[in-house]
Amino acid sequence: MIQLKNKSEIEELRKSALLVSETLSEIARNIRPGITTLALDEIAETFIRDNGAKPAFKGYNGFPSSLCISINEVVVHGIPSKKELRQGDIISVDCGVELNGWIGDSAYSFALEGINDESVSLLKTTKESLYKGIEKCIIGNRIGDLSHAIQSYCESRSYGVVRDLCGHGLGRKMHESPEVPNFGKPGSGIKFKEGMVIAIEPMITQGKKEVIFESDGWTCRTLDRSMTAHFEHDIAITKEGPDILSNFLPIEKAINENINLLNI
Ligand code: MG
Ligand code: MG
Repeated sequence: MIQLKNKSEIEELRKSALLVSETLSEIARNIRPGITTLALDEIAETFIRDNGAKPAFKGYNGFPSSLCISINEVVVHGIPSKKELRQGDIISVDCGVELNGWIGDSAYSFALEGINDESVSLLKTTKESLYKGIEKCIIGNRIGDLSHAIQSYCESRSYGVVRDLCGHGLGRKMHESPEVPNFGKPGSGIKFKEGMVIAIEPMITQGKKEVIFESDGWTCRTLDRSMTAHFEHDIAITKEGPDILSNFLPIEKAINENINLLNI
């Protein structure tokens, strides 16, 4: 069942989403070649707890960390480790918080200096496809309209659209109804109603769409080891149109101030 949210509940969700955006900004200030993903995870956990929230991923179905950090061919759910970042990497960082009982969940893929043009194009297309999906979040439209918008935008540029994972409803729980796939047919699926809150998260590859999960049970990478990107926003469906609760602006400000990162 889809849990519709009233205006004050949406404001609570906005606070959670914005704390995720601020956490990702903190990560953007600290990303550099040589830093470990574990160090980034510790920075995020400290920041989240200092702001009176809890990392929503930590312990979720046994996930060990506050962030999912997925490098290059890893699509999502990379577990922070002693692995060091390198020039030219794509670093996808997914973060979730629980603040006052409400969940925020957003992701941003960072481009480390030295990245090649193909990876830059992949990142741009993935981010743009997220907004193509958001444009469809209008009362009366259907989930399939959103899904198709993302799929057609990416496939028309010959990218792969991952099928095995999708976006989701969001509220007091991280994964609520409905599922929000990144592929589908226009006019299919449930209708958007006022008060729905969803996380949209295209996961796009430079090669084929197939993925595998590694033996840790979490790390999801492309089968053909092609590069991949992932962006995620939290959206409330309102009479005035899509209301983006998370915010990439502080993240992009931090990227511009970090000489190790490229603003794509
Ligand atoms: Mg996420
Ligand atoms: Mg999500």
